[in-house]
Amino acid sequence: MIKQELLDILACPKCKQPVRLTGDGNGLICDHCRLLYPIRDDIPIMLIDEARQLDDWEPGIE
Ligand SMILES: [Zn+2]
Repeated sequence: MIKQELLDILACPKCKQPVRLTGDGNGLICDHCRLLYPIRDDIPIMLIDEARQLDDWEPGIE
């Protein structure tokens, strides 16, 4: 699980806005870009190339 202290310093690499955890804790969402960044082995992958558009994601993940 990602610690809150880590979340506080994470930012979207595209827009530099804060990100937030998904409801299931398996990803980070940038509400500004509508991008979802994956979390692998408790490590957030803050790369635009790795992010998925939220609209392509199954509903309910938020
Ligand atoms: Zn963003």
